[in-house]
Amino acid sequence: MSIIKNAIDSIQIGVEDFQSDDDRRSISAVRNIAAGILLLYKEKLCQLSPDNNRELLIKQNIRPVKNEKDEIVFEGKGHKTVDVQSIKERFRSLNVTVDWGRFDEINKLRNDLEHYYTSESPDAVREIVAKSFLLIRDFLSDHLDQDPQESLGNDCWAALLEVSDVYSAEDKACQATINAIDWKYHSVEMALKNLRCNQCYSSLIQALYLDDCYPMINLHCKSCGHDFCFDEVIEQCIDDSLAGEVMRNAMDGGNSPYDACHECGKSTFIHEEGVCVACDYEMEYTYCEMCEEPLSLEEQYNAGKCSYCQYKWEKIMAE
Ligand SMILES: [Zn+2]
Ligand SMILES: [Zn+2]
Ligand SMILES: [Zn+2]
Repeated sequence: MSIIKNAIDSIQIGVEDFQSDDDRRSISAVRNIAAGILLLYKEKLCQLSPDNNRELLIKQNIRPVKNEKDEIVFEGKGHKTVDVQSIKERFRSLNVTVDWGRFDEINKLRNDLEHYYTSESPDAVREIVAKSFLLIRDFLSDHLDQDPQESLGNDCWAALLEVSDVYSAEDKACQATINAIDWKYHSVEMALKNLRCNQCYSSLIQALYLDDCYPMINLHCKSCGHDFCFDEVIEQCIDDSLAGEVMRNAMDGGNSPYDACHECGKSTFIHEEGVCVACDYEMEYTYCEMCEEPLSLEEQYNAGKCSYCQYKWEKIMAE
């Protein structure tokens, strides 16, 4: 069976799982659809492989060898096929553009769903299916020269289209209520894309009252009906929003963009804003009283001195 046929089968079975009344099949829906997307990518790598070795580019390990004519050619080594990281690298060097941001988001949602899933989270599944649909549709038409409706079949296409429409309409309505709130801080506004229900993990979150005062914003989950306050999810939101930056900074030996607040203890002190976005705590001492260097959050305990001056001062006092 060809890879493209496998890919389409997997997506179609995923959509049937999704439509099933048995909600135990939800996890299997997202797994099948995710597997289908990876197979579409592998099909593209096969199409890009040389004519005499159609599976070359889906081999994880490729090495140069000399053929009978003493020319350098490449051959696949072993049976292992490409993982996601290698697909990304090969697409990059072969100029195949994929919306990896969306792909990674779906992957993360899928991993989270496997941990959090309850029968109360149908919208979290709907979100994954809706977002996957866009990736599938674009890849089929942009990179595999296929008419997505024809390839997926009318039933599967219609089901995906409906999920996508329902999801985007609900998402838009929720977004409008969230956008109407004054979120006070830029970093919080940026973090809102990670706002999710703390019960069912859906992103369909509504703000209930326009005149709520930050951070006590009353929220309502459109998926499971759970009511909660922004204050309860602010740490998670900030953490999700800045996780990428934390990782990049750690690799460059830099500092974390946020830390635990001295006042409320939440991990919501944002260095760039110089303030805790949960309790409004600002640093009491901003410059060292001796050398006038800017002070960090940890140096607040020295009551006005930087750690170097504090050290010198303690030494003098001990003498
Ligand atoms: Zn919920
Ligand atoms: Zn605080
Ligand atoms: Zn100093």
